[in-house]
Amino acid sequence: MRLMKVICTECGADAKIKKTARKYSHFADLYCSCSEPECGHTFVMNMTFSHTLSPSAMTHGRMVKDIADSIHPDQREVAAAFLNRSAKEARETERQNGEINGVIITRR
Ligand SMILES: [Zn+2]
Repeated sequence: MRLMKVICTECGADAKIKKTARKYSHFADLYCSCSEPECGHTFVMNMTFSHTLSPSAMTHGRMVKDIADSIHPDQREVAAAFLNRSAKEARETERQNGEINGVIITRR
């Protein structure tokens, strides 16, 4: 596991997070202390959520339902066809990338 590295804003030495004050689920104040004895700088950094790289498996179903609910019933079959086409294209791209990277080896 990689721990978050905080650098002192005054001297550039490593700093330690002494306390985390979570204000909201997406925002926290990190109380930091410089490890360089001659510096002694203590300061507060902010940690915020930025964006999702891969959606949570726990919330994926709810997200899909929210999207489906926001689409007019007449348009849901069009959306389903789009998703099916998109999934086929993604699988085809994965298959081609696998062949390029030598993951799938076929002998003739
Ligand atoms: Zn420092």
